[in-house]
Amino acid sequence: MKITAVKGIPLGCTCSPISDALSTSAARQALLVRIETDSGYYGIGEAFTYGAPLAVMKYIVEMQLAPILVDQDPARIELHWNTMYWRTIAHGRRSMVMGAISGIDIALWDLLGKICHMPVYKLLGACSDTVPSYASGGFYAPGKGIDGLRAELEGYMEKGYQDAKIKIGRNLDRPGSPLRYMANQEYSVTVEEDIRRMETAREILGPGRLIVDTNASWDSYTAIQAGPELHRLGVCWLEEPVPFEDLEGMQRISRELPDILVAGCETQQGLKNFETMVRMDAVDILQPDIGWAGGFTECRKIGAMGEAAGRKVSLHCFGSAVLFGASLHLAASMANTEMMESEENPNPLKTDIVKEPFQADRHMNFYVPQGDGLGVELDWTKLEKYIIMM
Ligand SMILES: [Mg+2]
Repeated sequence: MKITAVKGIPLGCTCSPISDALSTSAARQALLVRIETDSGYYGIGEAFTYGAPLAVMKYIVEMQLAPILVDQDPARIELHWNTMYWRTIAHGRRSMVMGAISGIDIALWDLLGKICHMPVYKLLGACSDTVPSYASGGFYAPGKGIDGLRAELEGYMEKGYQDAKIKIGRNLDRPGSPLRYMANQEYSVTVEEDIRRMETAREILGPGRLIVDTNASWDSYTAIQAGPELHRLGVCWLEEPVPFEDLEGMQRISRELPDILVAGCETQQGLKNFETMVRMDAVDILQPDIGWAGGFTECRKIGAMGEAAGRKVSLHCFGSAVLFGASLHLAASMANTEMMESEENPNPLKTDIVKEPFQADRHMNFYVPQGDGLGVELDWTKLEKYIIMM
């Protein structure tokens, strides 16, 4: 069997604006990767983009990486990963090139599962058939306020979630806030209102785990200063408190706030970079994104490295149905999986392009799709209306 084509499929749609500490999103996008073979089998993956230009990601997939794979045996995934990595070593390793490699790797595993007639998580040696999740939301939005946040979180509890994540840190008036560099600086709140937001979340979650995410907008001094307040509010994890280059800062936070778990980094990529974070004791919970950090092949190694160091893995997941499905398979294949991110913002690219919605039990433990490969059956008729021509 040989690979005959590797294509990027850019998807996009608008949505009502949501903001984290820094960025505002009024649209969703995804770059799906489709790998075709001479046998008729094809695999689907997603290269996560963090809002990067889809045309560039598609170009990397089709013009730079596809020629490495065409005419090759699709089952040699470890070999293909290394070949893509080493042939782009001088300018790749991180950012969009690693994102493109990740999307291709996911598509290769989906393809292998289809060829073998097995779900990917079983090919990897399944650890569980379900994946615990937490509700990921609590964004800032126009006119939302504390009441809007309260209603949102109450909805998650009614749905069956026990744990949730909210955004904090959108404070233009806080000295040193990088929000002043961002294109949209609206919906900024005071530090006091952020405290009220956390108090509201704590009240609604009851004994549930509260995660707060600053999206890298703090520095280590701010995080350590906030420590007593985070402790009072029973914050369980502090996610991405500082930019991932500031490993010493994360290390300081971990050391100074021993009762709060530091989680990160969704923007980090590659086994070696995660290993450095663990070796420096900069993080307690590892949060790679399978569509960005290196696909199944690399993220399995990140998980195993974390397991050896006594760390849990909670996958970051903020993409289309393909990314969510792939994340479920990866999470279910690892013994050190902690609850996975289940994004609850309206996202048609997650809910409107599949034939069957993802299923969960009453506590929002997701069932891993049981079909061949990722088991995510795309509705190509519906999907077509989201394809961006370029
Ligand atoms: Mg995050």
